[in-house]
Amino acid sequence: MENFELKPQLVFDYFSQINQVPRPSKHEDKIIAFLQEFAKKNNLDCKTDAAGNVLISKPATKGMESKPTIVLQSHMDMVCEKTSDCSIDFDNDPIETYIDGEWMRAKGTTLGADDGIGCAIQMALLTDNTIEHGPIECLFTVDEETGLTGAFELKPGFFTGKYLLNLDSEDEGEIFVGCAGGANTEITLSLCFEQLKKSYFPLRISIDNLRGGHSGGDIHDHRANAIKILSRFIYKEMNKYDVKLIDFQGGNLHNAIPRQAEAIIAVPFDKKEDVRIDFNIFASEIESEYPDEKDVIFFLESSLGHEQCIEQNQAEKIVNALVAVYNGVYEMSVTIPGLVETSTNLASAHFEEGKLKIVTSQRSSIGSQREAMSATVASVFKLIGANVLTGDGYPGWKPNLDSKILKVAIETYKQLFGKEPKVKAIHAGLECGLFSEKYPGLDMISFGPTLRGVHSPDEALLIPTVEMVWKHILAIISQI
Ligand SMILES: [Zn+2]
Repeated sequence: MENFELKPQLVFDYFSQINQVPRPSKHEDKIIAFLQEFAKKNNLDCKTDAAGNVLISKPATKGMESKPTIVLQSHMDMVCEKTSDCSIDFDNDPIETYIDGEWMRAKGTTLGADDGIGCAIQMALLTDNTIEHGPIECLFTVDEETGLTGAFELKPGFFTGKYLLNLDSEDEGEIFVGCAGGANTEITLSLCFEQLKKSYFPLRISIDNLRGGHSGGDIHDHRANAIKILSRFIYKEMNKYDVKLIDFQGGNLHNAIPRQAEAIIAVPFDKKEDVRIDFNIFASEIESEYPDEKDVIFFLESSLGHEQCIEQNQAEKIVNALVAVYNGVYEMSVTIPGLVETSTNLASAHFEEGKLKIVTSQRSSIGSQREAMSATVASVFKLIGANVLTGDGYPGWKPNLDSKILKVAIETYKQLFGKEPKVKAIHAGLECGLFSEKYPGLDMISFGPTLRGVHSPDEALLIPTVEMVWKHILAIISQI
């Protein structure tokens, strides 16, 4: 297949320059200096805040001074992932790109089009003197990828525009108008132990190899939660037999649906075969409840050498709470079809150092709903006497379908491409959530060229969509 022409050339020139500058998250000094130098060379106003966010402004072209100021925004850091045979030093070496048909990729590494292509578009807009526009402010934020740090630390008043175009979305033809806010709720409970009598037989039960996934992007996808499933089985057996709880370990990252959980329980000697049969029946029930969980490994074996177990009253409370706590999608949006509005993920539960430690995370595009969801989770664990702490989290961006910039974006898209763009929101965090908190009334949308495989060495940029997004931005700027 013939290689695609890189258009607009100015955008791809800047993207190539950006890829010469190392810019891993939290190590943005070089890219900040590069942007400052770029502004100086082009006689553009530039300021940098304490966090390292850079704002470069360009005045209106003659006769366009009365147009409203538009802010364009991208993050300057990139996720640095490489294949095992790639020897790049991300702190010093450039990203080497190549063209593969209509895709641009990098040799063995992430491409950094997330969000370097957004930065390149902004730089092109700042220096292209063939276009007419009102006042433009281009915001380049630091450390989006590991914690939205730049957006968190952005101060009100750093930029002045009332309209913002965020260029960090990954599907051309889709316009994002909302994102979820989130917070973690963490639970700690001191464990009480008692002697395990010799008449009990300890068993290790594990559930492994579930699909897992992202607690924002995949929570609606009917994926089994290993902690929920395992505690459900223990609950069932506790209600049939005199079951003791010895250990419980499940889940890992706060933003992942747990793929694995295991527990050690002890059952009366004469009941161990009954429990084994129950477990086999339970496994087949789960398999039929979750047909897409094709490779689950259910495992039960004897686990000798335990002398104590959790005090029985507390063990029952823990299992009851794990079963009772809400998990998954709580509410779907009524304004954006298919959007999860509110959800919670029971992310991990571990017995460690004499304590039960649980991490859960709640998300919602509506701040007050996120708080309510966190309260729902917290309450269950407060009822069993646990310490519960919900963090501050990050704010959501509530979809506003009456947004003026959205109307202009839809109209111009239809004029340019003869089709409707899709208007969407996501159930994960974006920098826009923080902007909306700090700049109340800011009218925003998020869009960008098509990317695939972001955050992995498979990252690829669909070349022709860069020109489409460029044209779309120009049209929005001229018609707002
Ligand atoms: Zn990004």
